[in-house]
Amino acid sequence: MLNVLFFLIVAFVSIDYLFGAILGWLNRRAAKSELPDEVAGIYDQEEYARQQRYFKDNNAFSAIVRAFEFALILIMLFTGGFGILDYLAYQVTPSPILAALFFFAAIYIGNDVLTLPFGYYDTFVIEEKYGFNKMTPKLFFTDQIKGWLIACLLGGALLTGVILLFQKWHDMFWLYAWGIICMISVFITFFYSELIVPIFNKQTPLQPGPLRAAITSFTRKVDFEVSNIYVIDGSKRSTKANAYFTGFGKRKRIVLYDTLIKELTNEEIIAVLAHEIGHYRYRHNILGLGISILNAFLLLYVFSLLVDNDMLAHAMGGEFPTFELGLIAFTLLYSPIELLTGILMNIISRSNEYQADRFAASVGLAQPLISALKKISVKALVNLTPSPIYVFAYYSHPTLLQRIAKLQEYSSKMNQTHENRNYNYWR
Ligand SMILES: [Zn+2]
Repeated sequence: MLNVLFFLIVAFVSIDYLFGAILGWLNRRAAKSELPDEVAGIYDQEEYARQQRYFKDNNAFSAIVRAFEFALILIMLFTGGFGILDYLAYQVTPSPILAALFFFAAIYIGNDVLTLPFGYYDTFVIEEKYGFNKMTPKLFFTDQIKGWLIACLLGGALLTGVILLFQKWHDMFWLYAWGIICMISVFITFFYSELIVPIFNKQTPLQPGPLRAAITSFTRKVDFEVSNIYVIDGSKRSTKANAYFTGFGKRKRIVLYDTLIKELTNEEIIAVLAHEIGHYRYRHNILGLGISILNAFLLLYVFSLLVDNDMLAHAMGGEFPTFELGLIAFTLLYSPIELLTGILMNIISRSNEYQADRFAASVGLAQPLISALKKISVKALVNLTPSPIYVFAYYSHPTLLQRIAKLQEYSSKMNQTHENRNYNYWR
């Protein structure tokens, strides 16, 4: 059972874990107990102390969760747990598809049940302590069950489809599987608001009033047609505020959290909206979809090279190669590549954020965007002095201070060149 691949997998999983642990430690070291000068205008002394406590609680908590998950994988690897589970699955049913479904359902639900107490603690102890949590235990568990049902339905259907392709086309199955995954990704991107969101939240069209009127006149001025502006009841889970954009063409919609509307002035909301329109203008949603489709291509291709490997099955504690053992081994072996692709995607995402901010600045909304970002960050007790290496690896958005600096730069450039004359509607 112990072969080269086994040790390679253990090494990869360990590297992945250590990388995260070291970066988490660096991030903790970067935290300053005294209010740093650059943060002084944003947090006051008392809020800053609260933010530091929140940060330390979260940092320690995620270190424990990561260590637990790492230990869980090591136990499964060293006991040959995946092989045993696969053996049991074939005792239940001789059908390879049903056995694979049984195998993954057991792993997915087993993992979720084991990590559930952590999620519960995070929501009802940490988030609660700092006044963010709005969830009731009932909502927490119904969310969980809905999540399981969706994962079982979608995951089960996808898995069945891919195994059927694997049985029929063997060597080329990955290309067909990729085609199916592309179609599903596009479908979900188009119908996310109609199909997935309503399972968890209520969306209502933004009611006519000063905000709606201001938004409409703004979108008209920047020549951006959007008739679907919705308010989502984010406040039912958390006090943290947000806004996002989904869909394409006529289906595109802007979704504002009710918490955002409550916290920000109309001008600040328009600035956030301008940022979201910037994402849409620069086609960041299509870019994101393209990247995830390319990523799936790479993933499936590498997987197709490994799926049938005897050594991999043995490394997982199995007797003979099966689709599910191949998939698990692949997922673990792939973790360093995943780490790298994750970093790459964060680099792209951060540059997209700057671009969207620049769009907001180009329509004269740099200052209200800065004040909106400050409010949202302070309210959410965001850590303003993370370790730069941590930001590089894990942050999908630039830090608040980085964004403010760039926004100031954009807006002073705008003023110098008077480019904003045609666009400056707001001051
Ligand atoms: Zn953004």
